[in-house]
Amino acid sequence: MTRTRFAPSPTGPLHLGHAFAALTAARLADAGQFLLRIEDIDQSRCRPAYEAAIFEDLAWLGLDWPKPVWRQSERLGAYQQALDRLAALGLIYPCSCRRADILAALDAPQEGQKPLIGPDGPIYPGTCRHRAMSDARPEDAIRLNAAKAFALLDLSEVAFLDENIAPGVSHRLAATEFLTGVGDVVLARRGMGTSYHLAVVVDDAAQGITLVTRGKDLLDSTWIHVLLQRLLDLPSPRYHHHRLIRDDSGKRLAKRDDARAISLYRAEGARPEDIRRMIGL
Ligand code: GLU
Repeated sequence: MTRTRFAPSPTGPLHLGHAFAALTAARLADAGQFLLRIEDIDQSRCRPAYEAAIFEDLAWLGLDWPKPVWRQSERLGAYQQALDRLAALGLIYPCSCRRADILAALDAPQEGQKPLIGPDGPIYPGTCRHRAMSDARPEDAIRLNAAKAFALLDLSEVAFLDENIAPGVSHRLAATEFLTGVGDVVLARRGMGTSYHLAVVVDDAAQGITLVTRGKDLLDSTWIHVLLQRLLDLPSPRYHHHRLIRDDSGKRLAKRDDARAISLYRAEGARPEDIRRMIGL
């Protein structure tokens, strides 16, 4: 049975891109199950009013999902368990570097050269890699020691299948490419107890998601997710990275693009089928 999910963060109104993502997840669940999950780990940016609006917009679009929905803010214990497991394997370390420190460290060797930005931000130069978890302070982030992870798993690459981009073809990234192009990703952000990558991997497995559907902008994050699945002994779902909905100038829609908010179209009298037509469904 196919089980898919739509996993928005309640940090703004849902726009046409979200409508496309949610309807795609529901369509691909087919006769299986479509779940809604609220990704609200960044409590400083999430608002209950946006969460309520998500339920309302999706129901208006004709979607239905099992209740109660999972909220990631209520799942911190599960993320901590995953971190404990990685800590027992010696694979994580505390990090006190701020983004500016990282950029400064990366810029230093070749003045003026742009640092490489991976799916988790600038490639971490390893400043805190020597630190032990026993030395972790509340204001630290927690990072994965990626080189150690590949060595422990004795893996030379990570791979996943995407049913939309190139069906049947395995997407592969060599361990060396991961280390230079992704690096030591953050598994728990400062004061949050988790990160998008860790939470999404733990929850997709816990909810038995068999097909992860999401925008192509997250394609490169999938390398991180499949590595975490191996480390945590979790099954890898199938993937479907879909096209992104763009505005008239070709720019990808963002939450701040209120002009494209579903609620605005609704208020102007649009019907769900008008929304579908606008996004080519
Ligand atoms: N909360 C993520 C977002 O809003 C979901 C990404 C995913 O589906 O993995 O982009």
